Amino acid sequence: MRARRSLIDLGDLSGGELNYVLDRAADFEDTEPAPLLRGVATVNLFFEQSTRTFTSFNFAELRLGAHVVNLAPGDMSLATKGETIEDTVLTLAAMGVRLLVVRHPEAGYVQRVAQAFDGHVVNAGDGAHAHPTQALLDLFTLREEFGALDGRTIAIVGDILHSRVAHSTIAGLHRLGANVVLVGPEFFLPSEYAQPGVTIARELDAVLGEADAIVLLRIQRERFAAMPMSDAEYTARYQLNGARLARLHERAIVMHPGPYNRGMELDDSVLEFAGWRYAKQVRNGVYVRMSILDFLVNGEASPNAR
Ligand code: ASP
Repeated sequence: MRARRSLIDLGDLSGGELNYVLDRAADFEDTEPAPLLRGVATVNLFFEQSTRTFTSFNFAELRLGAHVVNLAPGDMSLATKGETIEDTVLTLAAMGVRLLVVRHPEAGYVQRVAQAFDGHVVNAGDGAHAHPTQALLDLFTLREEFGALDGRTIAIVGDILHSRVAHSTIAGLHRLGANVVLVGPEFFLPSEYAQPGVTIARELDAVLGEADAIVLLRIQRERFAAMPMSDAEYTARYQLNGARLARLHERAIVMHPGPYNRGMELDDSVLEFAGWRYAKQVRNGVYVRMSILDFLVNGEASPNAR
């Protein structure tokens, strides 16, 4: 099979490919990988700040033996010398670059890069649009916990509208057959998000007893002008805290893509909760990124494939 070129959102993967990438991430967790990207010239182009995603792409690339260069906006001629992104990527291609990992504050920007670049492009987050590798690591973490996800109820809580993580993760959960419950006020969660398999709740208290997993989100204040309600009202209705943790069912877990804001979407008791899976998600992010990079570059026929 011919390798896929790029990953802009989860829709770029067929059902079989999605499962393949998730299964293979488990192999990377269990065994030391062969240098499957040996010498593949790779550039990470991050136009927006990132801690987890940037670092874990770097580790994933290095563990697979890629040659890696990191570029931030201030390093590039397009910032000050009028070079377009299209000309920038042509320049990188001329140096033999085959793989670009791109983050940008504008939705659609990574797609533009993919159209201009004759190689593989991975979306590391574009505006409020999509963050497919975060979705993959969320799905992977949930599968490790529960096995098959069909029939499981996953609640995603908070600022859905401005969250690229939510957009990609909702699509992934839906494809794997989970019941998705979105929780938030109208401003962060317009009614149009409801669809078969995806329901809406306006109060966190209403979903605590039924959720197998709760995915908390940061309020993406950088993406809108004014909070629709006071922080006090938000936390009263949507913060996961000790009292609410006590109402979760016994095997329920709590996840967060990070960065989390203590005192807003969660309080410190969540960080000590036995079902808090944040560190697991972060660790899984490296395996999942190894898996998707290997899949894009080598296809399913890569040397260590099952
Ligand atoms: N780190 C995630 C992202 O880049 C989530 C967040 O920023 O809240 O979208």
